[in-house]
Amino acid sequence: MYGIYRYEQVWEWEILYDYRYCFHKKNIGSTIESLKKRFERHTSKYKQYKRGEGDNTRTYWLFDEFGVENCRILLIKNCPCSSREELEREEGLEIKKADCINKIIAGRTRQERYKEENEYICFQKKVYRELHPEKRQEESRRRYEKKKAEFLEKKLCGCGKYFTQCHKKRHEQTKKHQDWQKQQEQE
Ligand SMILES: [Zn+2]
Repeated sequence: MYGIYRYEQVWEWEILYDYRYCFHKKNIGSTIESLKKRFERHTSKYKQYKRGEGDNTRTYWLFDEFGVENCRILLIKNCPCSSREELEREEGLEIKKADCINKIIAGRTRQERYKEENEYICFQKKVYRELHPEKRQEESRRRYEKKKAEFLEKKLCGCGKYFTQCHKKRHEQTKKHQDWQKQQEQE
């Protein structure tokens, strides 16, 4: 028996998020395993992913955001299917009906899926930035610090002298560097 499952929040977290986030709440998928097994596999793979092994999936977005302990898997329907394609079509129909994070409808071409997925990720990032403005500041500060460090980092030039990025121009005008450069051109 093939089943279609979905993840759903146990908590009433919807209060915390605004309406643009509503469709974030579910992830629909289909499986030929029992739901219990499916859930266990998702969670153990999630642990692997957290250790840096394995790919990210939409289900992990839910886990990241709300915690595994706050997600549960619910059966939408049982549907006896004779092939994977048939099951994916059923899954696609359910996704179309629901407000869920995989608006990327199952059973599409890889290119279509890729495009929509990208669009979705962009949208998701935008929403996230709006909801967490402090993260954005943090990130831009980190980027700034990194740039600054790069700028002040001493580098060894081919001429044999050290220079910092912020004084690159000045260094290039020194006699030693110019002599070295002339020598390079002659060789
Ligand atoms: Zn130099």
